[in-house]
Amino acid sequence: MIIPYDNCCDGRNAGSYGNTRNCLACGDVEGKFDILFNRVRAIQKKSGNFDLLLCVGNFFGSTPDAEWEEYKTGIKKAPIQTYVLGANNQETVKYFQDADGCELAENITYLGRKGIFTGSSGLQIVYLSGTESLNEPVPGYNFSPKDVSSLRTMLCTTSQFKGVDILLTSPWPKYVGNFGNSSGEVDTKKCGSALVSSLAMGLKPRYHFAALEKTYYERLPYRNHVVLQENAQHATRFIALANVGNPEKKKYLYAFSIVPMKLMDAAELVKQPPDVTENPYRKSGQEASIGKQIPAPVEESACQFFFDLNEKQGRKRSSTGRDSKSPHPKQPRKPPQPPGPCWFCLASPEVEKHLVVNIGTHCYLALAKGGLSDDHVLILPIGHYQSVVELSAEVVEEVEKYKATLRRFFKSRGKRCVVFERNYKSHHLQLQVIPVPVSCCATDDIKDAFITQAQEQQIELLEIPEHSDIKQIAQPGAAYFYVELDTGEKLFHRIKKNFPLQFGREVLASEAILNIPGKSDWRQCQISKEDEETLARRFQKDFEPYDFTLDD
Ligand SMILES: [Zn+2]
Repeated sequence: MIIPYDNCCDGRNAGSYGNTRNCLACGDVEGKFDILFNRVRAIQKKSGNFDLLLCVGNFFGSTPDAEWEEYKTGIKKAPIQTYVLGANNQETVKYFQDADGCELAENITYLGRKGIFTGSSGLQIVYLSGTESLNEPVPGYNFSPKDVSSLRTMLCTTSQFKGVDILLTSPWPKYVGNFGNSSGEVDTKKCGSALVSSLAMGLKPRYHFAALEKTYYERLPYRNHVVLQENAQHATRFIALANVGNPEKKKYLYAFSIVPMKLMDAAELVKQPPDVTENPYRKSGQEASIGKQIPAPVEESACQFFFDLNEKQGRKRSSTGRDSKSPHPKQPRKPPQPPGPCWFCLASPEVEKHLVVNIGTHCYLALAKGGLSDDHVLILPIGHYQSVVELSAEVVEEVEKYKATLRRFFKSRGKRCVVFERNYKSHHLQLQVIPVPVSCCATDDIKDAFITQAQEQQIELLEIPEHSDIKQIAQPGAAYFYVELDTGEKLFHRIKKNFPLQFGREVLASEAILNIPGKSDWRQCQISKEDEETLARRFQKDFEPYDFTLDD
């Protein structure tokens, strides 16, 4: 039998091998992990390695857990970085503990309820887990009109928005068969989700994968623009996949090569395939209802975050004697928006602005609420990024600048900096910067304390090369914790299942380092708003001679 996959390089990618990602997409796995991964191994043996495997539909089945246990405990391992959507029914919700996504087993990552992840290559993948429900509030295995509209708002409202590389949903989009080749037994006027259609219409994915109908259907590519009325845009390929190991040998695994659209030449990107059809979701007759079910995305005003940091105006820099009347840095491009309320997006109303002590172009500094010490600060991106792994080069550069500046600042005050990030159950990147008085202990003592306490809690903390990039080590979407010492040494842990949320704080608060064990929980350290304001003002003043945001 021929292995049911094809190399659907459509010629667009020729000549750009460096940027090409070789991907696999798969339909409902339903617990048949061995069959799937053995097939993937066979394909990789024959055709070379693929970069990632994307699974839509039901990843878990109603079968006993024995097979899964072997992956979960590491006896068996997925041969490729695998990303999966969440539950579509009550029965399998239990496997997806963290709505924000998490690692389910080595090499197997749950993407989360909804969102976007950008691979290190720049490939943008939007995912929406579950099936449609129009009644709020929805259970963990459904998505609602609100979920879809927040995804659309997050992505489609900027004028630069052109589309995304890949969209993953479990249900088919309703009406996808309109103007297309036959979808077989599946009647797309009756089955599928209208919310998914509206999402696909808005997001303009280059590839859209779905499952759940236990059949394979590759629709002819459809166009995203109106001919003669709009500029040409790229086409969308919709592919529905069958279930793994189905007896009819319907195709469940699909191989494709893709260059992230942001790396593609615009003319190449919009080349129309010869068999392109009309957009199946475009309003016409009975289809006019698509899109009406969800509220229109609201344009958010950018750059609301340039509120005043008082006392800066009119001050003179002692180092240069230069007047600093224009404290606001160059306006950055609009930063990524969060899917919901966020405590750390600088533009969001939830931010405790009185704790903000310095604002750069891409990042800002804030005093930690309930900090371990009065000068415990956070480096935060202004826009919504979940982890260091997601940051663009320019944001990373400013993070590093803040780190280096804080190191110098604290050094002048007889302290060394310990920096840590926990990318686990956190929505918005927070780099914790905790100064430790030099008199307390040596850097090696800090390192030993982390290693010892990690061992006690069976946390595998690995030393990683000093100049290594977390991006190279952590897979996109995977949870991790790392700590960076003032020498630049780094200790890294890949979070598999559970991780003590206060781990970093606990170690630093312990007798071996700051010796304030009572402060290991931030909730124990809260002070009044006035006191917070006083601390913030003091920090701002002390930090001013180091403030690079005043330079040009
Ligand atoms: Zn945020």
